[in-house]
Amino acid sequence: TIILGIESSCDDTAAAIIKDGKILANIIANQDVHKAYGGVVPELASRAHQQNIVPVVDAALKKANIDKKDISAIAYTNGPGLLGSLLVGSSFAKAFAMGLNIPTIEVNHMHGHILAHFIEESEGGGNKPSFPFLCLTVSGGHTQIVKVSDYFKMEIIGETIDDAAGEAFDKVAKMLSLPYPGGPLLDKYAQLGNPARFEFPHPRVKDLNYSFSGFKTSVLYFLKKGLAENENFITENLNDICASVQKTIVDILMINLKKAAKQTGINAIAIAGGVSANSELRKRFQDLTAENFKVYIPKFEYCTDNAGMIAITGYHHYLQQNFGTQQSVPNARMKV
Ligand code: ATP
Ligand code: FE
Repeated sequence: TIILGIESSCDDTAAAIIKDGKILANIIANQDVHKAYGGVVPELASRAHQQNIVPVVDAALKKANIDKKDISAIAYTNGPGLLGSLLVGSSFAKAFAMGLNIPTIEVNHMHGHILAHFIEESEGGGNKPSFPFLCLTVSGGHTQIVKVSDYFKMEIIGETIDDAAGEAFDKVAKMLSLPYPGGPLLDKYAQLGNPARFEFPHPRVKDLNYSFSGFKTSVLYFLKKGLAENENFITENLNDICASVQKTIVDILMINLKKAAKQTGINAIAIAGGVSANSELRKRFQDLTAENFKVYIPKFEYCTDNAGMIAITGYHHYLQQNFGTQQSVPNARMKV
């Protein structure tokens, strides 16, 4: 079974080929046009997807050394995401599938982030989680603790009531005048700083939920105060500020995740989504093996948006004969 996966939910145009669960190609075209605006401009994203989609799919087929006639089905992201961006991938996928007379498969982007853990690098290879496991999905738009009982049996048991963790990273990075997307850069400076230098309050939220908006405001006031006393406050303390902010975000994330493990009695835990690329989160996660947890950390290339995760999710839909229709339209606010 050969699945072509297409991802276009935000600002990356991506295509991947998966053969029987094994990845053969994973191509991503990033869009540089948004840098100048400090965030993704939806209309520009759609236009760039239009330009990128054919060459990216072409490159994936070439890299995998697969002829388009050999594709079994085309899986594409049907939501959540920016509607204009989703429309480019879905229209292309439906048209290409119709031309090849093969089925489409509609993929939920958030399923994709989680099921990225099932991508095989070699035949039958890899350390894949077994069900049930808990997945902390931390990305630009989501922060969720998901109980994963089977490939498509997922239940959100905790989530953010306001900003996502990735948004918190990006917004603080913006306050520090780091270019967009700031998350990875903040991580880079944090590695040079002292995480115990500054303290920020933890939010008070019920159950297994998260909140990052109060934290963001507290960082803003902290910076304002610092700058009022010393106009070079940020530049002189950048590494320590980044390290302290990063530690606080990761602390907040880990507390509820451990609580969730205790409550559910599930000790197999995974991280997924763009923020799972964060060095501190990966380290703290790895440390949990000493506490008898089974931990699953994705390879860097499967953390942020990619089409490999869409293709593997499509493959598991394919095994369950769960196909899409030509009538289907993307849903910008799709839930897990
Ligand atoms: P969603 O999946 O919720 O629709 P998205 O697809 O835009 O959102 P992803 O591509 O999964 O999000 O993740 C992007 C986010 O990950 C950005 O907020 C980015 O700053 C953050 N991120 C990436 N690398 C790191 C890192 N090393 N440290 C912290 N944050 C990071
Ligand atoms: Fe994503």
